[in-house]
Amino acid sequence: MRGMVALGVLVAVAIAAPSGAQTTALEGVIDFHVHAGPDSRPRSVSDIEIARIARRSGMRGFVLKNHFTQTADRAWIAMQEVPGIEIFGGVALNHAVGGLNPEAIRQMVDFSGGRGKVVWLPTFDAEFWMTRAGDPGEFISVARNGQLVPELGEIFDLVAEHDLVLALGHSSPEEALMMIPEARQRGVEQILVTHGLGQNPSDPQVAEMVAGGAIIELVWMSAMDNQATFDGYLDAIRNHGAAGFLLSSDLGQAGNPLHPDGLMAFMTALSAAGISDEDIDLMIRRNPASLLGVE
Ligand SMILES: [Zn+2]
Repeated sequence: MRGMVALGVLVAVAIAAPSGAQTTALEGVIDFHVHAGPDSRPRSVSDIEIARIARRSGMRGFVLKNHFTQTADRAWIAMQEVPGIEIFGGVALNHAVGGLNPEAIRQMVDFSGGRGKVVWLPTFDAEFWMTRAGDPGEFISVARNGQLVPELGEIFDLVAEHDLVLALGHSSPEEALMMIPEARQRGVEQILVTHGLGQNPSDPQVAEMVAGGAIIELVWMSAMDNQATFDGYLDAIRNHGAAGFLLSSDLGQAGNPLHPDGLMAFMTALSAAGISDEDIDLMIRRNPASLLGVE
């Protein structure tokens, strides 16, 4: 009889917390930069595994990023498997989807489930990125001779029409500063400068990006083993204000920490360096939610 009562209590507890989520420091956090498998690069977890882990960590949600295939469909499938966490997808306009190809965006937004929210301009295939790495392959240009390429017009229009987030991929700071006003003029409201300090903008360029209404992404992956990079983040936040920044993990690589652990370490390090809880909250919860339109 006593056993039956105990069992009843256990069942009640299980029903009260169906998601398995706990209240933790990661509550409400949305990781805007999650890599997971399947992928053509080695990843430590699958989409569904990271959904379970993120939910258990108390996170609110995340954006699945893949460089070569859209993730709106994968986000929806992972959400069906793991209720209680919000998962978003997007498409990176690299060669695998035809480069600056508007049809890749149209198809993504039409996919059932409606989880496609982000358009990344070229990342690994970007002219700036490949040229800087000395990669002799064929790159995708967002600007030529100091002018934006005309294909960007339709891309920006689609992003505006469908209320998506325009993420600038691995473009140079100069390209970013040309694209931000043009995109805004075409009605794009949400612009993210993908790991924006990784492209080594000058301090005035950072100021111009923030003044132009873009949010600059700071990723833990590049800073976790690199004090100079982390110190650069601190300077940028102090000089330009937390409102202009977003914190994400960019984790998922085989051998690296898992995303929630990276985000916890990121928050702890910022806090130890004197960044206020309110500023961290803005950068890791409110700014990602506002970009995604889920405040
Ligand atoms: Zn990434």
